[in-house]
Amino acid sequence: MSEFDLIELMRTRCALQRADVRLGIGDDAAVVVPPGGHELIVCTDTLVSGIHFPASTSAADIGWKSLAVNLSDLAAMGATPAWALLALTLPNADRDFVEAFCDGFAAMAAQHHVSLIGGDTTRGPLTITVTALGFVPTDKAVRRDGARIGDEVHVTGVLGDAAAGLQVMNGRPYAMDREAPSVAELRRSLLAKLNRPQPQIAAGLALRGVASACIDVSDGLLADLGHVAAASAAAIEIESRHVPTSAALATLYGTNDRIPLQLAGGDDYELAFTVAPSRSAALTADLARIGCGSTRIGRVVAGTGVRALDSDGNDIAPKYQGWEHFS
Ligand code: ADP
Ligand code: MG
Repeated sequence: MSEFDLIELMRTRCALQRADVRLGIGDDAAVVVPPGGHELIVCTDTLVSGIHFPASTSAADIGWKSLAVNLSDLAAMGATPAWALLALTLPNADRDFVEAFCDGFAAMAAQHHVSLIGGDTTRGPLTITVTALGFVPTDKAVRRDGARIGDEVHVTGVLGDAAAGLQVMNGRPYAMDREAPSVAELRRSLLAKLNRPQPQIAAGLALRGVASACIDVSDGLLADLGHVAAASAAAIEIESRHVPTSAALATLYGTNDRIPLQLAGGDDYELAFTVAPSRSAALTADLARIGCGSTRIGRVVAGTGVRALDSDGNDIAPKYQGWEHFS
């Protein structure tokens, strides 16, 4: 297949139409029409084979995840996703790979009504860069720098499953402290969290105008909350016993083995946010109404940095730091 055959394949297989796309794939650049009274929210994330996903990951999962992690960044801003660009670097023009990749990408795009409006196709080691665009009403983006001393810290969903899924995928012996009746099924649910993350778009919209700060958990809870603390010139304390845990993780891992995955594992794509105590009950109820569980895990205090506390209020030294490429 030529470069242009590949582009045509992607155009037809990821063909979600939106009325606000005046000109999509096929010209030098796309033309889109953002709604009046809104600001454009733009982000990009690269996935490198062997770094961001095991080389054995299926093409469909790679396609899904490459868009999902970008939509997660839009979710963390409280944005409504709309458009995406896809820069695909492939070792060779493998039709089967591109078809399966597009099917995963298109499934994620369809869930959130995102139109693929352009990209670039090159040869080289498997690398996927997606740029996602969305919008928020003017001045309503949820930023990292708004946390205030006294705010509560909450997180959506559960943490640690994706990091455990990576251990399962790498075939590493993991700490299974008892014989579960349905281990295969539990392992599958951990793998699904790793390979098919769900960006918390609806939760992000509910946070808009209510949460004081928000970040998506991609590098690990402590590392990501560290960015909120630094941007907000405050400190954050997390009570590790409150960190939400799935049934699968609780069944397959002992407490001491799962806590580091939950605090520092990353790839969760849940939203960690801060909210004033006076607004937290209403926000929790709003999130529950849209089917999004959330848990209060800590508080914003004076100082700098992030601390995780055990049940006695002592500092936990995390076994792992969050993901950092150049460390
Ligand atoms: P140019 O040479 O002007 O940069 P290209 O030949 O790279 O244009 O791309 C032709 C058209 O196909 C452009 O509209 C571009 O956005 C689109 N395109 C290229 N690669 C991809 C891709 N991987 N996914 C979506 N659109 C793509
Ligand atoms: Mg080009």
